[in-house]
Amino acid sequence: ARMTAASRHTGPGRTKDGHPVALLANIGTPQDAQIAAATDVEGVGLFRTEVLFLGHHAAPTVEEQTEIYREALAPFGDRPVVVRTLDAGADKPLDFATTGETAPEESNPALGVRGLRLSLRNPDLLTDQLRALARAAELTGTPVRVMAPMVSTTAEATWFAEQAHEQGLASVGVMIEVPAAALRAENILGAVDFGSVGTNDLAQYTMAADRTLGPLAELLDPWQPATLDLLARAADGARAADRPLGVCGESAGDPLMACVLTGLGVSSLSMTAGRVGLVRFALGTHTLATCREMASAARAADSALLAREAALRLADDTL
Ligand code: PEP
Ligand code: MG
Repeated sequence: ARMTAASRHTGPGRTKDGHPVALLANIGTPQDAQIAAATDVEGVGLFRTEVLFLGHHAAPTVEEQTEIYREALAPFGDRPVVVRTLDAGADKPLDFATTGETAPEESNPALGVRGLRLSLRNPDLLTDQLRALARAAELTGTPVRVMAPMVSTTAEATWFAEQAHEQGLASVGVMIEVPAAALRAENILGAVDFGSVGTNDLAQYTMAADRTLGPLAELLDPWQPATLDLLARAADGARAADRPLGVCGESAGDPLMACVLTGLGVSSLSMTAGRVGLVRFALGTHTLATCREMASAARAADSALLAREAALRLADDTL
């Protein structure tokens, strides 16, 4: 039986046989929020808050932050928004996000004090942000879930959850974007409520290839077998810990990869709002069983190109 065009192009994400996969937007500003909220995305899977403060020399106050978060949350009403705490450092330098010590020049900033590692060394910055988020959530009524970037250990996840709970934020998650976190996902996710794989950084750290270097694009391809293996390992860990796992890296917006991720057991996909329609269509054309076959076929291949081809061979002609 053919589904109607409407059933494939709007509404919540579902495979052809009705298995739900939440389709969420990645945003960085209140402007992005307006655009994404006008579509039928089910919420936000990644709000990159550091984007708001690029170029700021001084740390924003709690009041300033509350206002800008309120502006970004309000358009979503009762749709949940996953807010990532400041992911400063490496490719997203923020002047004011320092450790408080005289900042040593890092020769490898991607391997340096970035993301949650910075929060651990400058907890006041994190406390201010969590406080502002709790206030903005209260003002808008929008369900806020906070998520930490660059988590590598269970101790880091536990510490972050404590900080969030202290500010009254009940739903806490971590990004899985360091291979150590993918390998130990069961334990790490056990310390929080949910996880989300950042495939951009996971690919960078798995393949030891700087994500900002164009000539390394082939190594950074999320279809690389080693990166797929770690994704699968993270999905298995999430299942064992009984925690939902999403993907919020660029790969979530690739319709074929979206099917593979669904086959691996991922329950939400967050992407640029403009990609949601394509991904909804791709999921709606394939059963969960086919998605699982695609995932197995991709994982059996020994190169990124062959993995993609293997998944494509199982895809509906329309993809
Ligand atoms: C990622 O690393 O995949 C991710 C979603 O975060 P960012 O691209 O902001 O590092
Ligand atoms: Mg990242």
